[in-house]
Amino acid sequence: MHHTDATPHFVWFNVVNFQTKDNILRCRRCSSDNKRTFSTEMNIHFPGREGFEKPTVLVFSQVSICLNCGLADFKVPDRELRALADGLSGKKAESA
Ligand SMILES: [Zn+2]
Repeated sequence: MHHTDATPHFVWFNVVNFQTKDNILRCRRCSSDNKRTFSTEMNIHFPGREGFEKPTVLVFSQVSICLNCGLADFKVPDRELRALADGLSGKKAESA
């Protein structure tokens, strides 16, 4: 039997950081419009005592900071996000 080999066609939309003004300008905590975006380098440590033995995860990200109340928003990039998840679940190690 022949059936048409209809390979699914996926279209990927590249969402290129579409920054709506509302999103940028309004703090979700204090509603101030005094927000600015900064570049950061973050060295994220794992929690707990065993966290000292795990390699930290370096994250380069843009952070949006409310200059009125200090609330900061940022998104961890996918690769680093996975590193964090793996680091947490990866080694439950010996609970001696
Ligand atoms: Zn604020």
